[in-house]
Amino acid sequence: MTKRVLILPGDGIGPEIVAEAVKLLDALAGDGLDIELDEGLIGGSAYDAAGSPLPEATLAMAGEADAILLGAVGGPKWEPLDIAVRPEKGLLGLRSELGLFSNLRPAILYPQLASASSLRAEIVAGLDLMIVRELTGGIYFGQPRGVRTLDDGQRQGFNTLVYSENEIVRIVRSACDIAMKRGKRLCSVDKANVLECTELWREVASGVVADEYPEIELSHIYVDNAAMQLIKWPKQFDVIVTTNMFGDILSDAAAMLTGSIGMLPSASLNETGQGMYEPIHGSAPDIAGKGVANPLATILSVSMMLRYSLDEPDIADRVDAAVNAVLDQGLRTPDILSDGMTEVDCEAMGDAVVAAL
Ligand code: NAD
Repeated sequence: MTKRVLILPGDGIGPEIVAEAVKLLDALAGDGLDIELDEGLIGGSAYDAAGSPLPEATLAMAGEADAILLGAVGGPKWEPLDIAVRPEKGLLGLRSELGLFSNLRPAILYPQLASASSLRAEIVAGLDLMIVRELTGGIYFGQPRGVRTLDDGQRQGFNTLVYSENEIVRIVRSACDIAMKRGKRLCSVDKANVLECTELWREVASGVVADEYPEIELSHIYVDNAAMQLIKWPKQFDVIVTTNMFGDILSDAAAMLTGSIGMLPSASLNETGQGMYEPIHGSAPDIAGKGVANPLATILSVSMMLRYSLDEPDIADRVDAAVNAVLDQGLRTPDILSDGMTEVDCEAMGDAVVAAL
């Protein structure tokens, strides 16, 4: 059956990097991949054209799509806008409308780029770990929340960390499904020694793995130790599953281990397997329009889409191999350039990946 992919270029470098990913998708379609592409507006450019960062038409197309590829949203032009119509609202709205509760953030460091990391090469070269972050619950959404005035007149801020069993079960299942496609090792990160909510998290996670995924080797670790271990020996991890806030922090730390923001893809999945795929970086207004952005994070987002929403793991492997091949050829956009390598622009990098494919 033909799979529908919605393309949302967005703002800043979004249209430049997404164009290279579309080039790749067109090449794959010409090679037998049964997909149909639609294109929609999101973010600041959607606000300019349609008065909303998430127009109804985009939402309708997203609902119909098997997968969504997003560039990036935002930029200084839209910062003065009211928060309700800022570009980021488009992204958050799409996440909540589609129920994208499982956020997959890989941290991969290609051996060819090991010198880009601030850690020693032997610690990070060949790093390949996946952080699965719960995206629609936890302390970022828990009620009650706010700032109140106490009897003595001082203000007090408060938020609520809350997870129900079914929320824990579905994110742990999602992480187990990923682990089954990788090394079958899952590490659940919590703070069960202090927070009852994550004590429940630990108990439920253990139950899901024991009952449904007996092949998976499960470990538990406190979040403070997880932060230390990520810096000390990140290659010990295969898949990490954790709460919204812990995942927010740990996934940024893990991304920075690789030192190259232009190389990292991400995915957000819902219960039906529908997913939104996007590079982890933003719209990079400082280089937008110059044609020098690195399109590889977006191209690797296509690889994740093939693997997790389109059920085409072999084609995903081919895309990953093509990216490896262009790095082996010494081709580098300015953000990952080092001595002795050949500098290319965004378009030439995209062409090289298609040629390597
Ligand atoms: P950013 O990720 O856009 O840029 C940070 C730095 O990394 C910049 O120097 C940029 O030039 C560089 N960079 C990022 N992507 C690159 C690429 N593909 N190739 C080469 N260099 C790259 O983060 P920022 O500057 O903090 O934010 C800029 C705008 O993006 C803001 O409006 C922010 O709200 C938005 N943003 C959007 C998303 C998203 O759409 N998911 C995520 C983060 C930030």
